Amino acid sequence: MRTSDENGADTARNAGSASNTGMRGTTSGGFAGTRSATQPTPLIDLADVHLTLESGAGQVNILRGIDLRVEAGERVAVVGPSGSGKSTMMMVVAGLERATSGRVGVAGRELTGMSEDALARFRRDTVGIVFQSFHLIPTMTAIENVAIPLELAGQRDAFDRARAQLEAVGLGHRVKHYPGQLSGGEQQRVALARAFAPEPALLLADEPTGNLDGRTGEAVVELLFDLSARRGTTLLLITHDDGLAARCDRIVRIGDGRVLVETPALPETAAAGG
Ligand code: ADP
Ligand code: MG
Repeated sequence: MRTSDENGADTARNAGSASNTGMRGTTSGGFAGTRSATQPTPLIDLADVHLTLESGAGQVNILRGIDLRVEAGERVAVVGPSGSGKSTMMMVVAGLERATSGRVGVAGRELTGMSEDALARFRRDTVGIVFQSFHLIPTMTAIENVAIPLELAGQRDAFDRARAQLEAVGLGHRVKHYPGQLSGGEQQRVALARAFAPEPALLLADEPTGNLDGRTGEAVVELLFDLSARRGTTLLLITHDDGLAARCDRIVRIGDGRVLVETPALPETAAAGG
């Protein structure tokens, strides 16, 4: 439940972002125009999500009743100690891991009962993911890496769009390079281009700056926030970086497979991040 103060902070941020980019809030997925009229449907709606795995030593309870709502267009940081279940929760939201019980609503779909084929289509159409270790295909050039998901989605102009997206992350001069010929920062920018190119409603990032030095990481973060602001993309961002977390609208702290606290970001901090 949001307080009027939080709404005020959001409104201020949206106004700031809109003037910066000229685009935020214009997409149908954005909440800026709908919040005052009706309670918006959350883009992510996790209710009492459990995930239990069998291991040699018996059952492991990785997620132990996660409740989380994220509204369309929100940018939420996920923080917490190593092993607390952050990545697993993200995989559940992405439809890459199945919850053992509970409800997993993403972009108006309930993932728990979906077939594998339906989940694959859901991921293709709705979710972009960026990992700490880039996960590019080493035998494909930068432009091929970005174009593949577009081709899979049946887009005829996949390579033109891939090139445009690589230009948008400052890599127009590296399209024919293979991942092994690129620096870590460049590889992560290719990964960002790949994740954003299909214009997903939801961008998931799991410690995207974890393998980068400070300045390179900052450049990647700027791109991540800029691209998501332009498209009104909902952002769920796992990070150990307090500065990065503070740039989000909200910080969710995970511990031992549960949400411990949700902290609204300070208005000044949120505005500075726009
Ligand atoms: P975080 O991202 O917060 O570091 P993870 O979600 O990666 O945490 O992992 C949460 C816990 O689940 C850890 O204790 C980890 O060892 C365990 N875990 C993750 N994946 C598996 C798996 N496939 N089999 C068994 N245990 C796992
Ligand atoms: Mg992790």
